[in-house]
Amino acid sequence: MKKFPCPVRPSRPFTPPVPSIRLGILGLLAAGLVQAADVPDPSRFAPCVAELKAGALGRGVSAAGYDRLTAGLQPDLKVLELLDYQPEFRTPIWDYLSGLVDDERVADGQGMLVQWRDTLNAVAARYRVDPATVVAVWGVESNFGRNFGNRPLLTSLSTLSCYGRRQAYFRGEFYDALKIVDNGDVKAEQMLGSWAGAFGHTQFMPSTFLRLAVDFDGDGRRDLVGSVPDALASTANFLRKAGWREEQPWGYEVRLPAGFDVTGAGRRNKQPLAEWSARGVRRIDGTPLEGEGSAGLLLPAGPKGPAFLVFRNFDALYAYNAAESYALAIAHLSDRLRGGGPFQTPWPTDDAGLSRAERREVQALLLARGHAIGAVDGMLGDASRAAIRSEQLRLGYSVDGRAGQKLLQALKEGR
Ligand code: CA
Repeated sequence: MKKFPCPVRPSRPFTPPVPSIRLGILGLLAAGLVQAADVPDPSRFAPCVAELKAGALGRGVSAAGYDRLTAGLQPDLKVLELLDYQPEFRTPIWDYLSGLVDDERVADGQGMLVQWRDTLNAVAARYRVDPATVVAVWGVESNFGRNFGNRPLLTSLSTLSCYGRRQAYFRGEFYDALKIVDNGDVKAEQMLGSWAGAFGHTQFMPSTFLRLAVDFDGDGRRDLVGSVPDALASTANFLRKAGWREEQPWGYEVRLPAGFDVTGAGRRNKQPLAEWSARGVRRIDGTPLEGEGSAGLLLPAGPKGPAFLVFRNFDALYAYNAAESYALAIAHLSDRLRGGGPFQTPWPTDDAGLSRAERREVQALLLARGHAIGAVDGMLGDASRAAIRSEQLRLGYSVDGRAGQKLLQALKEGR
């Protein structure tokens, strides 16, 4: 869901606050870093769940279903720490994208395009969203179904309904999650997901599920956990409802003329292409702008990094998870799945980010140096970051726990 402390938008498809938290990319699931200011009282939980019954029934959950699904429910107070977690370290966009759009994910996605070709073609015919875009969402959301999150949804959502800052919002999601199980769409034991309640192949929040999930394989159930066709079609349905237009691109990389005044840049400030053309903006290969309608100038790393013109389809991706970096990851992955290359303008850094393969390489090198960082999984979590800090200190680098190409090279060279 989203980045707290911003308000959680009930319309969001899925949740994670900071994409990196949900995806675990930088291992920011740092419960230990959180200060537990107010210790919640576990004895308040059972009475609270009993009180929530009326609300659930009002939302259409059966009384028998409520009793059955909440019997023995225990709070998971860790999710409250995640609710309040504020990363002190902002992930640079080049790190974020290098982990989400790497050669491995492109190859995996191309495999999925082949494996699910007939389904994707049928989805595209019905919802008018192309296969590469749908598969790109799938790849970023759950790594093509490999990573759903492993927290029991009813536990997390009931906890968040009874404690913490966003109880009203999470009660709605709790009722909707109960309803999904009570309806027989998804089994209770399959309702596993992020701490905030996003679940399944496409990481929908329960409310988004009820609004937009579809039964595409025709078995009578909308199943975003057990059915890839249902998940792919539900994603396309979401994007379609968010305003996706198949005849338009999401956008493309552009080249700005020397001395370009970036005042007025921004996704929301859409201008006719003729306006951008008149100001000297060209496609990155130097050809004139093409496409219809209006576009905003996106400068995700400021005026010195890659620049993009983005159309309303980019806003549809943004609606899926309200972060421009997230939307750009999906957009870029979809281009790569269509055979496109990396961005041509380098990011404004002399220490580029690491792919997941390179993150695993860093972890293997840290292990070889005796750091007890656990399994090599490509996720640079707390233990990896602590080890990185100690290596940075030894190497005389600035000590921030971030691994980029420089640290990888130093470790590879045995420095
Ligand atoms: Ca189905």
